[in-house]
Amino acid sequence: MTHVLNWQLGRPMEYPYAGAYPNRQFAFVFNTNRCLGCQTCTMACKSTWTFGKGQEAMWWANVETKPYGGYPRQWDARLLEMLDEADPERIGWRDAEADGFGPYGLYDGKTIFEAARARSAKGPQVALGYLPADEDWHAPNLYEDVPVGPGGVSGILHREGESLPVHRTWFFYLARICNHCSYPACLAACPRKAIYKRPEDGVVLIDQERCRGYRKCVEACPYKKSMYRGTTRVSEKCIACFPRLEGRDPDAGGRPTETRCMSACIGQIRLQGLVGIGKDGEWKEDRKNPIYYLVKVAKVALPLYPQFGTQPNGYYIPPRWVPRDYLVQMFGPGVGHAVEAYLRPDRELLAVLQLFRKSNRIIFRYEIEPGPKVWETERADGKFELYDDTVIAFGEDGKELFRTKVEEPIYVRPAKHLNSI
Ligand code: SF4
Ligand code: SF4
Repeated sequence: MTHVLNWQLGRPMEYPYAGAYPNRQFAFVFNTNRCLGCQTCTMACKSTWTFGKGQEAMWWANVETKPYGGYPRQWDARLLEMLDEADPERIGWRDAEADGFGPYGLYDGKTIFEAARARSAKGPQVALGYLPADEDWHAPNLYEDVPVGPGGVSGILHREGESLPVHRTWFFYLARICNHCSYPACLAACPRKAIYKRPEDGVVLIDQERCRGYRKCVEACPYKKSMYRGTTRVSEKCIACFPRLEGRDPDAGGRPTETRCMSACIGQIRLQGLVGIGKDGEWKEDRKNPIYYLVKVAKVALPLYPQFGTQPNGYYIPPRWVPRDYLVQMFGPGVGHAVEAYLRPDRELLAVLQLFRKSNRIIFRYEIEPGPKVWETERADGKFELYDDTVIAFGEDGKELFRTKVEEPIYVRPAKHLNSI
């Protein structure tokens, strides 16, 4: 094992390979506050990539209702339990404010790679994981729209996070795709070296010719986003719609374009981008890249289960109505700041949030033109002022993609008929 820097954990960690980083990394932000669970994204992916024979139970993109839902069934609860068993003394997260740590503090517990080594007596594993049973893949929408009641349901909830109700009943939709991790567990576990990370965009792919279907990737991926296809006897996974990323899709017109699941999103919760990566794997400073801004500057978007250690490149704006303990378990200790920032957005954050889904083209830079104050109100925490700023999005070539305003325009249609609305 070598050591690589995991900036999400604020420390180096063990990984089977030396760090090798792409020039740019595919990354995305999902705003869970806006997801309506319509599953349009799920079907956009399904109808593009996984409609073939043997792919019936294969959902590269899915939306599950938390806390009970999960595809495959209970994927995260099971791994959290395994981590607890492998590392009973774990301290978890420490001191988010201390100098020298990452943006969320220091994670002192074991990652899936470190936990696997610690319990190697039980059998060789590169990453702590398990192979879901066939029936775990059969019902992607199990527990859809099922809320937590006042008492919760024992035995199904994660061990932490069963208390501190913000609302007495709650659930939220968690949209998921492969995180195209910086330290992919699927890649680390593959005995055939059939999985690779593209240097140009960090997309993680399975070489279908090299794969022999050992399913080590399925076992090792903590997010369970590598899947086995019985008809071809090889594994498959999300490919980040790379022809669109490269601008080769007919819809792309030669310009980097967002994936099908992003482009189809009805709730406008998704924003995809490419961030520059330095030699140590850290993100290069790029203040006006919207993904960089949301993750590194506003810190309103957080990685999913960063403690697993794969340094996932999907980030989530946490749902504001959900018990904080539950959210901290899922997104780390940055939750408090992220929820506060989202509840009380400053002018820049409010403007950047308008960029979601105004175009299918990937935004590389934004600028904000100040507008007039259009509204103000007194809130318990002080005065809130709304400015009708204009935010302008630019593509890879530096040309303007679109501009939009903070205040959405209202059009009143003339009444033509008695039943016009
Ligand atoms: S989410 Fe899973 S399948 Fe995707 S890159 Fe990470 S470890 Fe591999
Ligand atoms: S399309 Fe968007 S709003 Fe609908 S379920 Fe998917 S992520 Fe949520």
